Amino acid sequence: MSEALDGSRQMQRLRVAVDAPAHSGIAGPLDYLSERALTPGTLVTVPLGRRELTGIVWDDAEPADEPLDASQLRDIGASLDALPPLSPNWRALLDFSAAYYQRSVGEVALSVLPPQLRELDGKKLQARLKKLDKWTAAVEQARPDPAAAAALRPELSPAQAEALAQLDGLLAPAEAAAAPPPLLLYGVTGSGKTEVYLRAAEHALAAGRQVLVLVPEINLTPQLEARFAERFAGHRIVSLHSGLTPAQRLQHWLAAHLGRAELVLGTRLAVFASMPRLGLIVVDEEHDPSYKQQDGARYSARDLAVYRARLEKVPVILGSATPSLESWQHAQPVSPPAPQTQQTAPQGGEGLLGSGPAKPSKSRYQLLRMPERIGGGALPRVRIFDMNTLPRNKGVTTALTAPLIEALRVRLERGEQSLVFLNRRGYAPVLHCTECGWKSECPHCSAYRVFHKGDRTLRCHHCGFTERVPDACPDCGNQDIAPLGRGTERLEEQLAAALPGARVARIDADSTKHKGALEAQLGAVHAGEVDILVGTQMITKGHDFRRITLVAAVNPDGALFSSDFRAPERLFSLLMQAAGRAGRDAEQAARSEMWVQTWHPQHALYKALARHDFEAFAKSQLEERESAGLPPFSHLALLRAEARTAEAAQAFLAAAAQWAQGQPEAQQLLIYPPVPMSVARVANVERMQMLVESASRAALQRLLWQWMPELHALKREHKGLLRWAVDVDPLAI
Ligand code: ADP
Ligand code: ZN
Ligand code: ZN
Repeated sequence: MSEALDGSRQMQRLRVAVDAPAHSGIAGPLDYLSERALTPGTLVTVPLGRRELTGIVWDDAEPADEPLDASQLRDIGASLDALPPLSPNWRALLDFSAAYYQRSVGEVALSVLPPQLRELDGKKLQARLKKLDKWTAAVEQARPDPAAAAALRPELSPAQAEALAQLDGLLAPAEAAAAPPPLLLYGVTGSGKTEVYLRAAEHALAAGRQVLVLVPEINLTPQLEARFAERFAGHRIVSLHSGLTPAQRLQHWLAAHLGRAELVLGTRLAVFASMPRLGLIVVDEEHDPSYKQQDGARYSARDLAVYRARLEKVPVILGSATPSLESWQHAQPVSPPAPQTQQTAPQGGEGLLGSGPAKPSKSRYQLLRMPERIGGGALPRVRIFDMNTLPRNKGVTTALTAPLIEALRVRLERGEQSLVFLNRRGYAPVLHCTECGWKSECPHCSAYRVFHKGDRTLRCHHCGFTERVPDACPDCGNQDIAPLGRGTERLEEQLAAALPGARVARIDADSTKHKGALEAQLGAVHAGEVDILVGTQMITKGHDFRRITLVAAVNPDGALFSSDFRAPERLFSLLMQAAGRAGRDAEQAARSEMWVQTWHPQHALYKALARHDFEAFAKSQLEERESAGLPPFSHLALLRAEARTAEAAQAFLAAAAQWAQGQPEAQQLLIYPPVPMSVARVANVERMQMLVESASRAALQRLLWQWMPELHALKREHKGLLRWAVDVDPLAI
């Protein structure tokens, strides 16, 4: 301890990011005093109110800050000096994420670190490090001889070779002055995108760098991990996702943070992994909505991956057969701005994905195309089946049309597999009384409870309220209550009845609740123990099924008429993904088919699907979006409010809108009237939302930034209000 001559202690003022919830109104790090100089990025404990919290030394207090009376500041407690500090880049990523998604930096930073890190002290860390040493040694012992490893690498297809050649130029050394542009790897399903990721990772590893690979769903991590583990035997690979135990999560995080892990594979949370030698980021299935976090800090891991790559000056590969329209638009040549267009966006504003001035005729993202399947396999032929051609009152009541049953039978006879896709789980979405019209409404939500036949329950998929199915109508006592509509459970039952002897299996959130269930079920499909696989979108993504020659979407029309402007984009990519499960084996590709049963066969979306024409679909969608002023041609934020009454939620939003209208940014913004959310009431809470739109991302960000403290204050005035939240770049509206 150093004593100054006048007897006062020599103290340093430091700013510490603490895990204070957003509603406390704390946005930035807090000031504390420390006797010792602490490197920014060091984990510490600090007092806040009567509590002791974990914090991260964020930076030195700026000299320009208002001089604070040091006696008002409290001392930093213990510090975990044995752990290398979190890097300036990591903190910059977190600073940006918190600011962009309107949260406090400490809240975001602490929420993305493994919870057990808070309990770590010098001794526990030592024990962990010994463990890591053992792991490192064990992995290295298992390193196969280079010849055996090389034998696993297939010869690249011309498209893959071309993609990698372009990539090579971008895997620049760390000293490179500028960040390479993000790469959009647009490759049809089965074009071998994963092989491109593997080769790119090889390059980065050879240069001594770490590689981060993101996948949208935890279900897809084992498959990807297996592929990477096989190729990179003897390399240190860890996964980061919510399925890990707290101890595993800490261990994997430490391995990445200490530079021990060379490859980190994970879901959206992994975008925040601390990786001191990061050299490459891969975002597989970049269009997938799962990359958007739906509570707390509602971040997009895909967008943050792009931001992080720019920050660290490393390449990022965004891979997809159906890129998001945002990414697709970024990969189109930018035409010089027409003279008459008004430049509303201020230059150099807070920018995600580059809101800076566009350079003429150069795209922001570099586009790499892989238009063909490996081995010359064709994409399945798409049959848009017109439900209107069925005789009325016959085919109409069943989703399983006679021609589809026939097509399934043919596959069965040939010993091939089929996949039947319906995006609705349970037996039937509604149960109803044929006498009095009673329906299985949820008493707590504006939604029906779904009939699950397996355990004879009525279950609300929104609030979880579950009851046994009544024997008779609760209103009139009629015994004849019947299911309306169809979910995967019922489809499974109907398929089994229509095709006796067929081995039908179902995969959805219900069938895979237990740990290991999904792996076992997928294993059975791969082993050929299943003839017909029924399921939700869970089975349409990513899986490399080898024996499927028929994929059928039995009832996809709903999304055509959704109020959400992204619904067509979603449906198109979902159906393309589903089609991508068929004919992956080149020998079977020629007779592979995708069936789409629809009442609207003339719809442009289905026309484009039948031609596998993503580009035409994207073009028409982008034209619509542009004329309607929707993303990616504008930027959105949603303000949501929840209250016991719709009036209270509405009043809060109206007051918020009124305040915003008074701001100078308002002339660059469009604030829509508050509306109920699509499921307005959940668990007896009324939910409203209000959309804010602007052509200028910077103006929107400025408004949000000023709005936050105002909204905190407004909440206190609106007694009936329970919660509010801001969703920047919302995915579903
Ligand atoms: P995508 O991710 O584009 O859907 P995958 O990477 O899963 O495609 O590749 C499809 C299949 O082709 C996989 O079984 C993969 O092992 C195989 N494959 C990829 N590249 C090659 C290649 N150059 N030569 C032979 N097989 C390949
Ligand atoms: Zn009744
Ligand atoms: Zn409910």
